[in-house]
Amino acid sequence: MSHQAPEVSLIIPVYNEAAHIAQSLRKIEEELGKSTQSYEIVVVDDGSKDASWEQLSMLAQTSRHYKAFRLSRNFGKELALCAGLEHARGQAVIIMDGDLQHPPELLARMIRLWREQGKDIVECVKSDRGSENLNKSVGSAIFYNMLNQLSGFDLKGASDFKLLDRKVVQAWREMPERTTFFRGMTAWLGYDREKIYFEVPSRAEGSSQWNFWSLMKLAVQAVVSFSSIPLRMVSMFGLVFLIGAGVLFVQTLYQKFIGNAVDGFTTVILLLLIVGSVIMISLGIIGEYIAAIYNEVKGRPRYLIKDHINSETSEQARRV
Ligand code: UDP
Ligand code: MG
Repeated sequence: MSHQAPEVSLIIPVYNEAAHIAQSLRKIEEELGKSTQSYEIVVVDDGSKDASWEQLSMLAQTSRHYKAFRLSRNFGKELALCAGLEHARGQAVIIMDGDLQHPPELLARMIRLWREQGKDIVECVKSDRGSENLNKSVGSAIFYNMLNQLSGFDLKGASDFKLLDRKVVQAWREMPERTTFFRGMTAWLGYDREKIYFEVPSRAEGSSQWNFWSLMKLAVQAVVSFSSIPLRMVSMFGLVFLIGAGVLFVQTLYQKFIGNAVDGFTTVILLLLIVGSVIMISLGIIGEYIAAIYNEVKGRPRYLIKDHINSETSEQARRV
C-alpha cells in the first residue's frame, strides 16, 4: 500500500443512479469537506444498466479522492456494501446511500462523535420513514417487530447509514458468511455506539430499486441468518399436533367401542388439511435454512469486480 490511509472513507453503493449521481456526490463531498480533508470516496457500481459507471469513472479519473469499483453484475446493495467495506482504508468508514436519502449534513456530527467522543459506531436511525409509501412502512414495522422477537436485536428504524471505526470494520471482515445483512451484523458486533435520529428526505431522483420480492428476500435472509427459532417452531408444531392426534385417537377408539361409530368425514378432511399444511410450512422453513447452508457451503466469492479505478488492491477483495 503506497499511500497513507485517509482519515475517513465514504462508501456509496450505486445502482442506476446516472441521472443525479454526479450532483449528489458533489453535495456529499462538499459536506464531508467541512469535517476533514483526508478522505476517500469509495463508489461501488452494482452492475448499473444506465450510464452510472461512465459518471463514476469520470469522477474517479479527475479526482484522486475517488475510488471506483464496478461489479460484474447486479449483486444487490448488501454485497455492494461488502465490496466497499473490503476496499475502504479510512480510520473511520461511513456507509451511505447515493440518492441523498441519507442527509450529508449529518456527516459532520457523525465524525465529531467518533473523533471527540471515541464512539466506535455511529448509527443513523430513521425517526420518520419520509415519503415511503404506506405498504412499505407497514411492511417494515411488521418485519422489524418480528425480527426483534426472533433475534433479540432491535433494528427498528435502522438504516445502513453508519460510521464504523477501523477496528469495527476489521471485526466485521472476520464474519465469514456469504449472505450478509449489514444492519443485523453490525448490531451483533456490539462496541461503543451512539444513535443519531434523522428524517428520511425523498429520493434525489429516480425510484427506489426495491420491489416486493426483493424486500421479501431480504426479510427471509435476515431472519434465517439471525435466528433458528423458526426451525425450533417446526418441532413445536409437530409436538402439538402429535398430542392432538393422540387425543383424537383415543376419542375415536372410545366412540367405536361404545358403538357410536363416527359417521362424518369432516374430521378426517379437516385433519388432513391442517396436518398437510403444517407439514408444508415446516418443510418450507427447513428448506430456507438448508438453502442458506447450501449457499454458505458453496463458498463462492460474494461478488466479482470487473473494473476499478484508483485502487491498487483489486485482489484483496476476494478474501473471506
Ligand atoms: N442499490 C444498490 N444495488 C441495488 C439496489 C440499490 O447498490 O441492487 C443502492 C442504490 O443505488 C442506493 C442505495 O442502494 O444508493 C439505496 O437504494 P434505494 O434508494 O433504491 O433504496 P431505499 O432508499 O428505498 O431503501
Ligand atoms: Mg433511497
